Amino acid sequence: MENRNLGLCRSHTGWLLFGLVLFLQPASALSGQGYSVRLAVANSVKSVQVEGQRLTILDGDVRDVLVKESKKAIKLTADPAGIVLSGYSHRPRSVILWAKSGLKVNGRLLVGEVEVFMKKSGLLVINRLDLERYLTGLLGAEMSASWPIEALKAQAVASRTFAIRRCLDRENHDFDLSTSTLDQVYKGIAREAHSTKKAVSATRGEVLTYGGMPAEALFHSCCGGRTRSAQEVFGNQVAYLSGAKDPYCSGCKSSDWKVRVTLSELKKKLKRRKGWSGPIVRVVKTTSPKGFRATRIIGKSAELVLSNHELRVVLGLDVLLSSEFVFEVEGTNLLFTGRGRGHGVGMCQWGARGMAEKGKDYKAILNKYYTRADLRKLY
Ligand SMILES: [Zn+2]
Repeated sequence: MENRNLGLCRSHTGWLLFGLVLFLQPASALSGQGYSVRLAVANSVKSVQVEGQRLTILDGDVRDVLVKESKKAIKLTADPAGIVLSGYSHRPRSVILWAKSGLKVNGRLLVGEVEVFMKKSGLLVINRLDLERYLTGLLGAEMSASWPIEALKAQAVASRTFAIRRCLDRENHDFDLSTSTLDQVYKGIAREAHSTKKAVSATRGEVLTYGGMPAEALFHSCCGGRTRSAQEVFGNQVAYLSGAKDPYCSGCKSSDWKVRVTLSELKKKLKRRKGWSGPIVRVVKTTSPKGFRATRIIGKSAELVLSNHELRVVLGLDVLLSSEFVFEVEGTNLLFTGRGRGHGVGMCQWGARGMAEKGKDYKAILNKYYTRADLRKLY
């Protein structure tokens, strides 16, 4: 898995200014403080299926009970007049879902508050839940509950830091985090396990900081032998994301990859994502002003230089599996040969696993991948 976006979580009692002042408070002042995150478990969708024991649905604006203790699953469908509830005549703009237990949205088991909003682009389903509980389910999806406990603890700290940072960045947005690889992969509480609960509680409130602020705790699945600097991949220099050799991720067996992309496919995607027009005359290897690998695409009247990461975004993160690749031109095709999975910046999850298997603890793992960041207990 990989996270990419960099991101004030809400305290359970309301919005809370999270910044220097908070970090300067002694940890004891924050003990017992809980934080919640707003997850977009579905976004811009036409419909969702909801179910649960004694499922009850309230109008999100006026709080009237629309559906009381339903034993059947209910389909919610987006409509310009409001949300259509199968078998009911109401058309609310938003609804709040409640179930005694087993609340599921599209089969995904959730805890906490769940609200569905009618937006211009379709339905938006928001699950608001305690940050530590979110992490407990998250670890089972981002890694695996069967991975060594010290790797899970390192992931808990990285994911907590990432979530808090994301909340800070998205204070005025509809939600803090999506549940896909765009942020962090969350598949609901079904992925919670004894090991993930242990990893989260053992590191409760611990975050990586730099300069008194939460760090940009980026991570990825497998670096393929060397992590990359934030400068190389994203063009921003970040002191603790400098990149280094990684001898620990050899367990990532499917690290090497090859893919063939036609020039017409490249042209189509360049048109969609970069407004490119006209034929592609030539594609050549080049280097960026900072000396990193890049690709020059030459057209009849236009020219474009893309870093490896930018080209990956254009072609698709599921097409070019990592930012570490070279290519050869073969007639009307580009043959890409790469290593690793993900952007390669920050913690390599397979490397964390390898370090844990060699007896390193989570602090050593975090220190390797976020070398100049500090580990602090926020609550
Ligand atoms: Zn690695």
